Amino acid sequence: MKFYKITLYLIILASILPIFLFIDFPDYSAISDKSLANDLYIGIFASIIGLVGGILLLWLVILGNRFIDKVIPDLIWVNSLHKKIGKYGYLFILMHPLLTIYSYGENLLYLFLPNELTLNQTEFETHVAIGRIAFYTLTFIALTSIFLRKKLSYRLWKRMHFLSYIIFPLIFIHAPEIGSLLNADKSLMLYWDLLALIFAITFIFKILFHFGLFRSKYRLVEVKEITHDTKEFVFEPVNTPILPKMGQYIYIQSDEIGEGHPFTVARLDKQTKKLSLAIKTSGDFTRKLLKLNVGEIVLLDGAYGVFTQEDSIQGKEDVYIAGGIGITPFLDNLRHCSDEKHLFFGNKTVNDIPYSEELDKILGERITHVLSNQSSEELESLGTKFKSGYISSKILKDYLKNDLLAYNFYICGPPVMMKFVEAELKNSGVSSKQIFMERFSI
Ligand SMILES: Cc1cc2nc3c(=O)[nH]c(=O)nc-3n(C[C@H](O)[C@H](O)[C@H](O)COP(=O)(O)OP(=O)(O)OC[C@H]3O[C@@H](n4cnc5c(N)ncnc54)[C@H](O)[C@@H]3O)c2cc1C
Repeated sequence: MKFYKITLYLIILASILPIFLFIDFPDYSAISDKSLANDLYIGIFASIIGLVGGILLLWLVILGNRFIDKVIPDLIWVNSLHKKIGKYGYLFILMHPLLTIYSYGENLLYLFLPNELTLNQTEFETHVAIGRIAFYTLTFIALTSIFLRKKLSYRLWKRMHFLSYIIFPLIFIHAPEIGSLLNADKSLMLYWDLLALIFAITFIFKILFHFGLFRSKYRLVEVKEITHDTKEFVFEPVNTPILPKMGQYIYIQSDEIGEGHPFTVARLDKQTKKLSLAIKTSGDFTRKLLKLNVGEIVLLDGAYGVFTQEDSIQGKEDVYIAGGIGITPFLDNLRHCSDEKHLFFGNKTVNDIPYSEELDKILGERITHVLSNQSSEELESLGTKFKSGYISSKILKDYLKNDLLAYNFYICGPPVMMKFVEAELKNSGVSSKQIFMERFSI
């Protein structure tokens, strides 16, 4: 595992530890009424779980913020960690009210409504109500993420996700007022305040980022037609240039305030610092980008990603497998690296192949086109570099000189294709350490 991944895991663990260090557990044996002692301990456990859940939520906010990727470039790994913490953090938060209710001897209705006894304790009930709002909001986000993520559009789902920013302030107000653990220990309360400060700084960063701060301005200088649905946009830096490594991606935003979407740098001119993005029409955002005119200014930030920089197994040759616009992370590598890589390139028809001429010229016999929607007669006329169907282990074996175990495989393309090729490779005995994938969805 990479050093930065281990470090981040350790920092997350360390952020939770103070809760356990500062708690002063009552002496169980000194409490004669054991049922009372049990309830007391369950109450303490419920508070611990609530505080740990709160810290995990703070990590969700931190990991969902782009500035973390300035330190950790593997955004996709950060994102998968964000999802994992989201799941487990929610379980902690869910257990907190349930255990608290149990230790108070309340019934489950208290999860939704105050009871007659506490109704008069306005201050206390107000803070419980704030906790309830945080809990409902989190439940809404968790349930929509688990059950509706695939049904909702990415945009709507992301907007709903922004609601999570109100949860931490609510927890911050809820916990110190009625949280017996925090009240009992000054150091713990101080630590809680520090976490609130970290949240506030993270939030300010998020807002500044949203308004274009920390981004580089680029001017569109040229638009090239690549295929019927893909164009290459060439941008020159107006202020600080971004210098991506081969295969890395940047986020582009066409308005000062608006969405930023990820695109791989398809070409970098090291002298002029101009960079190109090959953009395929997909939905609202890409359609808007395709309408950009030469001279217009966009905001870019990055560079992110580790895909083609990953530690491949030494002594094995690299094989690239691309589907459609998934060719972009490989382009500059193929243009500038002298080692002889083989490219398997899947597309629907010959008219859908981006950078076809250039790649054929660079790679000669080391490119195999696999076309899923081209008739066999047409394929025959195209020559032996063209195969019909989908990229499979059979096709890989037919065109590679050595056994599949002798290679590292880099895959980028539509999710279905990536899943299929990965399964084919694994079924042929290729280890997951030899397979590297870049997903074009976050
Ligand atoms: C690391 C990476 C590199 C990419 N490189 C390229 C490239 O070189 N060329 C290219 O044409 N496309 C690339 N993409 C895909 C491109 O980002 C999406 O096609 C584009 O954001 C879709 O936006 P849309 O509104 O036009 O389409 P929609 O139809 O709204 O979205 C289609 C899908 O794109 C994904 N998507 C949408 N918005 C975002 C977002 N803000 N962040 C991340 N994913 C999103 C979602 O999975 C969504 O389901 C890359 C994606 C990633 C993650």
